[in-house]
Amino acid sequence: SQNPVPLSALSADQLAAFLTEQRAAYDALKARDLKLDLTRGKPASSQLDLSDALLTLPTSTTDAAGVDVRNYGGLEGIREIREMFADLLWVEPEQVVAGGNSSLVMMREVLVDLWLKGGVDSERPWGQEEKVTFICPVPGYDRHFTLLEWFGIDMITVPMNDDGPDAEAVARLVASDPSIKGIWIVPTYANPSGSIVSQEIAARLASMPTAAPDFKIFWDNAYAFHHLTEDEAKSADILSLAAAAGHPHRPIMFASTSKITYAGAGVAFLAGSVETVKWYTGHLGKGAIGPDKLNQLRHAQFFGSAQGVRDHMVKHREIIAPKFAEVERVLSERLGGLEVATWTKPTGGYFVSLDVLDGTASRVVQLAKEAGIALTPAGSSFPKGDDPRDRNIRLAPTFPAPAAVTEAMDAVATCVLLAAAEHLSA
Ligand code: PLP
Repeated sequence: SQNPVPLSALSADQLAAFLTEQRAAYDALKARDLKLDLTRGKPASSQLDLSDALLTLPTSTTDAAGVDVRNYGGLEGIREIREMFADLLWVEPEQVVAGGNSSLVMMREVLVDLWLKGGVDSERPWGQEEKVTFICPVPGYDRHFTLLEWFGIDMITVPMNDDGPDAEAVARLVASDPSIKGIWIVPTYANPSGSIVSQEIAARLASMPTAAPDFKIFWDNAYAFHHLTEDEAKSADILSLAAAAGHPHRPIMFASTSKITYAGAGVAFLAGSVETVKWYTGHLGKGAIGPDKLNQLRHAQFFGSAQGVRDHMVKHREIIAPKFAEVERVLSERLGGLEVATWTKPTGGYFVSLDVLDGTASRVVQLAKEAGIALTPAGSSFPKGDDPRDRNIRLAPTFPAPAAVTEAMDAVATCVLLAAAEHLSA
């Protein structure tokens, strides 16, 4: 049923025939009683298996500094894991905190601290401001948005382009509105578009004048090392750029080994100016005596070096790159030339961002659900789940087995075509 003619160019009769054909294809799909899930960006169990040497580590109980990792203390994390990830993130070890198993928790902690106490450069706690606003590049990571919503922080969207957020729009907004206190950025292999923030955009964001003196860039580098090709993108060095521009406290960087080792038992990192690190651990110390240093030590021993992390990521790539290739193959075979969808071809990260005809994303997700294929709810990559064009769907192909990815994408294509045909016939 491949049709090289754009769907919108079909005559009424042709379109009616196409719709009939798609209804039949969809009924056949439904009859197969599939049960597939493309909702969350989780590592497959074969990826988790790559790190099972962790289960017999550490082989000692003291870190490089001679600290007994079984005991309390060391809020900033053990020396060797800080050094290793400082190397990987191009910062100094004293600019890094190694924490628990979740960088998202660290992001929430930072927001709580800013809210209750203010940052190193704040005039007052954010919670005492009349209004706090964040800039949210879209499409973006749903949990960033739900976290802001939980605080009652207002969200203004800007487009996420191939080279990062629309920096002109951001610069214009932050210049005049002192309620704008921050922006989320997933710089290297954005969730969900896979785009990479260019050096120029990073420099602009690091140096732009802001009406708020304590404007923060939440630089969430969750996929910094998660390359899908041999062309390994390097993240812009946001801390140096900001320091050079006279705004050393503006960026706060986050990363974790959730998708390097174990998603539920990795190590998370925060990086910033030395003052930011002191500020963070100072507040952290009111509720913690030290992190799980034993987990940090076993990670340090498992990787051996920063290069060990890079080498390990190649093994992930070998498992997941073929799944992304299947997404690309099926979508282009089934949808190519029909002008009913565009999608990203990421070179890293965990997602493909699919844009269908305006006004049909919710219908596609509903059709898929009724056929047994769970997709992320339409709009979930937008604040409050509101995609004003109802066109974006986030695809997460890492978790299912390769054959399931193929089946699921074929099913998604069927739903996209039926929704498009219905929409154009209406
Ligand atoms: N940041 C982004 C952009 C993510 O996509 C995810 C997980 O999907 C996280 C953070 C969660 O990180 P962590 O497991 O370290 O809490």
